Amino acid sequence: MDGTVRDTDADGAAAITLTDIGKQFPDGTRAVQSLSLEIPAGQLVVLIGPSGCGKSTVLRMINRLIEPTTGRIMLGDEDVTQVDPVLLRRRIGYVIQHVGLFPHQTIRANVGTVPRLLGWQRDRIRRRADELLDLVGLEPGRYGKRYPHELSGGQRQRVGVARALAADPVVLLMDEPFSAVDPIARGRLQEEFLRLQAEVRKTIVLVTHDLDEAVRLGDRIAVLSEGGRLEQYAAPAELLGGPATPFVTEFVGADRAIRRLAVTPVSRELLDDEPADPDPAGLPTLALGTSLYDALARLLVTGAEHARVVDDADQPVGVVSRRRILDAS
Ligand code: ADP
Ligand code: MG
Repeated sequence: MDGTVRDTDADGAAAITLTDIGKQFPDGTRAVQSLSLEIPAGQLVVLIGPSGCGKSTVLRMINRLIEPTTGRIMLGDEDVTQVDPVLLRRRIGYVIQHVGLFPHQTIRANVGTVPRLLGWQRDRIRRRADELLDLVGLEPGRYGKRYPHELSGGQRQRVGVARALAADPVVLLMDEPFSAVDPIARGRLQEEFLRLQAEVRKTIVLVTHDLDEAVRLGDRIAVLSEGGRLEQYAAPAELLGGPATPFVTEFVGADRAIRRLAVTPVSRELLDDEPADPDPAGLPTLALGTSLYDALARLLVTGAEHARVVDDADQPVGVVSRRRILDAS
């Protein structure tokens, strides 16, 4: 294995290594030809691509809901095909679009599903369920005793995430987890999910067909085309800044410059020295790390050509100009 990638990090998140995996279904459909991908421990990797390109098949090969026809899948230093699939799935969280909660069980019981299968004590299951509900922003005292139909679609998705995390899985697989909720709820879920991930730092593979979601959530994005062919695997800003193939260019579309501004921070490389005739009082001030999108918006709103930029300690480190921002996009 690549020595630069951690197999398992301190919190027990495992890297996932796909080597030449392929899937041919019994009817002859070759959903995935041959895909290799390295997903570092503790990172969120997005699989994106058009409908039918094999995203769900890849995800379901990782937890062996689908058996690969060829190739190897490693979880940390463990070969997934050598593990009992039922035991394997208890260690891998799985969240799908219509979350599949058990309708006749309370929210608390739903979240406790895997811990129950693992034979945890009742008190421990309950404590864990309540801890997870808190973590996903659902007050346990208020929601724990409800049934799934008594929650909104967005709340049900959160319960799905809580359930997937309950037994502290080494990996979380998410198949279009937010696409069934309305756009406003989706934005909130994405934001909360990012906060959650900052806290739990799981290795996550998330499937979406929504580029904005991919750019917003992904540490890295894998763009797939028909047959699970890997077109590009890169960080969001890199993908938007330099599509590797005509397919990716078309896929990321004409508004990629704007998307890219939103994921690229004001960095020291973009700074110039203060202009010769500064008007410090008149220049807007920005922190390093502000997105180029927000920086440009500030310049446009204030009518300024430059903004002065300060570091974490509020010390001025230079100025950024409209020109430099537009050149960087
Ligand atoms: P995606 O999630 O990217 O939309 P899928 O992984 O679901 O794509 O499907 C990839 C391809 O495999 C599609 O052509 C789909 O029709 C086909 N496929 C999926 N499941 C089966 C199956 N059980 N039998 C035959 N073909 C399948
Ligand atoms: Mg799918």
